[in-house]
Amino acid sequence: MDNCPICGAEAERLPKTGDSEGFDCSRHGKFKVADSVFAIETNGRWESALVKAKARAKVDELPLIMTYDF
Ligand SMILES: [Zn+2]
Repeated sequence: MDNCPICGAEAERLPKTGDSEGFDCSRHGKFKVADSVFAIETNGRWESALVKAKARAKVDELPLIMTYDF
């Protein structure tokens, strides 16, 4: 088990793909976070970042949160 970076709840860590980490949160669903995001100051704006990532994702893709979503 790991913790959702958005809400801090326990979340499954998905198999690592490329330059991102994947999470499966009971509240936020499955999504990916670019490794570079963990190095920036996110100021608690994870919820809006996920909204932007979801809007960008194609139907067969998981949302991928990037640094520019913050
Ligand atoms: Zn969550």
